[in-house]
Amino acid sequence: MKNYTLLQLDGLKETIKEKGRIVLKEELNLTGSEVSMNFIPANGFLPFVHSHKQNEELYIVLSGTGLLKVDDEELVISDGDIFRIATKGERALKATTDLSYICIQAKENSLSQYTEEDGIICDSKATWFN
Ligand code: ZN
Repeated sequence: MKNYTLLQLDGLKETIKEKGRIVLKEELNLTGSEVSMNFIPANGFLPFVHSHKQNEELYIVLSGTGLLKVDDEELVISDGDIFRIATKGERALKATTDLSYICIQAKENSLSQYTEEDGIICDSKATWFN
């Protein structure tokens, strides 16, 4: 069994536009997070406000502009913006132009080690190390 799973987005761009959202947990065998690729057409919006039971969300805006409601605030968002929303944050999104974004869900307060604490330098070499 390989230690990686590859999914190529090129073939999925139309599906994301048609469906508005694809989730990658199953396709990539994710075990610690859920990742979705999302698209809202200009002037479209998600028809509900929601919060989460256990998962914080990280939104990464890839292109476009929109409005993000979190609790009593409304923020203008645009490509390059990255924001985390805690479980209890009551959120809603509206696109003001075609809006593409990634949403990563992970269990709030579950991260116990990361980067240097978790990484291990291995003995194997890559061909470009010469
Ligand atoms: Zn959510």
